[in-house]
Amino acid sequence: MARYSEEILDEIRTRLDIVAVISEYVPLKKGGKNFKGLCPFHHEKTPSFMVDEERQIFHCFGCGEGGNIFTFIMKMEKLNFPEAIKMLAQKAGVSLPVSEKQNSKNIQEKELIYRLNEIAADYYQKNLFLTQGKSALDYLLKRGFSKEIINKFELGYALPGFEHLVNVFLSKKITPAGLFKAGLASKSTKTNKTIDYFRNRIIFPIFNLQGNIIAFGGRVLDDKLPKYINSPETLVYQKSKNLYGFFQAKKSIRKQNQVIVMEGYTDVLMAHQFGVDNAVASLGTALTVQQISFVKRFADEMIVAFDADTAGQSATLRSLSLIKKAGIKVRVISLPANSDPADILLKKGKQFFINLIERALPLIDYKLKILIQQFNPATTEGKVSIIRELFQDLSAIDSNIELNNEVKKLAERLRLTEDSILKDLNRYKKGDRQLPRISTDSLVESTHINAEKILIGSMLQKKDQLEKILSELNVEDFSIPEHQEIISVIINLKKKGERISVQKVMDLIENPQIINLLSQIILKDLISLDSAALERSIRAIKTYNLTLELNTIKSEIEKDEKNKKEVTPAMLQKYQNILQKIKNMA
Ligand code: ATP
Ligand code: MN
Repeated sequence: MARYSEEILDEIRTRLDIVAVISEYVPLKKGGKNFKGLCPFHHEKTPSFMVDEERQIFHCFGCGEGGNIFTFIMKMEKLNFPEAIKMLAQKAGVSLPVSEKQNSKNIQEKELIYRLNEIAADYYQKNLFLTQGKSALDYLLKRGFSKEIINKFELGYALPGFEHLVNVFLSKKITPAGLFKAGLASKSTKTNKTIDYFRNRIIFPIFNLQGNIIAFGGRVLDDKLPKYINSPETLVYQKSKNLYGFFQAKKSIRKQNQVIVMEGYTDVLMAHQFGVDNAVASLGTALTVQQISFVKRFADEMIVAFDADTAGQSATLRSLSLIKKAGIKVRVISLPANSDPADILLKKGKQFFINLIERALPLIDYKLKILIQQFNPATTEGKVSIIRELFQDLSAIDSNIELNNEVKKLAERLRLTEDSILKDLNRYKKGDRQLPRISTDSLVESTHINAEKILIGSMLQKKDQLEKILSELNVEDFSIPEHQEIISVIINLKKKGERISVQKVMDLIENPQIINLLSQIILKDLISLDSAALERSIRAIKTYNLTLELNTIKSEIEKDEKNKKEVTPAMLQKYQNILQKIKNMA
């Protein structure tokens, strides 16, 4: 997301009024402290769309959409952030400083890194076709990669030895400082010399959307470890924001309105070689919200084709649910055991893979299939575990028709009534995360979610409370990822010594769901008015976390007892300690 300086954003904000801007789209009426109107984002007959003039925020209590003046225009006009800024800047008569941006040191440094990467990539690429590079080229050919694909993705080879690339740059009078910035060289801890970062590895350049090389991946030629290393993060490369192959795939992704996300470099290369050219890779990490909001600008559907062993893992499934929530259709391919897309394409060919895409299951169905293998759907316990895992996905469905369909399928499969699933789902949506209700301490849970919201509201509106809260709690003490992200943004601003405001925090959050949550917190005035109320909320969160800890130990003890293993005194002591702490909180 291209960023304008906070001064510029403030300039636009001070010149425009959110009530006036929104009134151009929606008739608003003053009702109490706020303005009210019929929500433009969903159909309704009685107004639940609120605009807070004082804090310059809107929120619809019907559909949950919310944000500030920028997010309103983004949603209304279907623009991305910079586009919305441009539109509002024009309206406000604020000129966006092009020159300031171009002169900035950041831009110059980025250009430098692109240039150095380009030189390095050329050099690596040439190596592949020298006699010294024969082993690397042979390796690629033996694995079935064509010369055409090797060229298209500009693959290369870093020779064995420590100073090849460094010397190439020396001969061009380029100093090590730039190489460190680009992550192409590092300082040897032993000799203190400047040495090449990649040595004796096949090189995979990673491009940004414009085709600049922002980083490299490097693979060994045998089965030494680590199999892959990647460039360190630099000014131009953030692992969580890029997808390998996007530059080469973007045209096809737009045309097919679909992106296929795989795990590895080799999968993407093989896919493109076989004509499946809308494939990209997340490079072995879980997909991030940033990657998804990026993809969403190009396609409405995402097909996940992870290695057979990763696709069913709960961490992967959970990250996929987040993505579904971000508003893109997700289907998952089931690959035969112990295989990845590259293997399948080589062994079975393109048509086989295309068939797999066609038969890819919608995320919920795929998850259900995996969960039924993990838990026994014949027992109550099994049913509860399965439903619990699916709540997040079910709550992300906007359409009632679709939701009813899913619930019906689920009810049939698990032999439950549709009604019971829907009731629990509604409670889950209200923030009750302990569902379905299997234990009696579910009350603790709702209280702490509410407490978290109150603390977030307070941090943003009362400076002294911000200090107090951050001295008592860490990011991880907050229980849901949405809250954690808001807190991280606040902490980052504070670290940089910047003034903290609702507006600024919103500017820095990319996930629209989280912005919705934030506008809700602010408009509901969730804020602790005095220090006693603040203490209560902090205590509620601490108590909840201690209870989780206690439960973990409790189940460990129970497991030991069941296995007739002796429970260690240390474990019992730990249990007692936590129990005491919880009592002290009360
Ligand atoms: P190959 O076919 O060459 O064995 P692959 O792409 O199938 O490679 P996987 O082991 O499936 O490799 O891993 C998938 C991706 O995860 C890799 O392409 C790479 O981007 C990333 N990866 C794997 N191992 C590492 C590692 N040790 N460090 C960093 N990234 C890694
Ligand atoms: Mn793989």
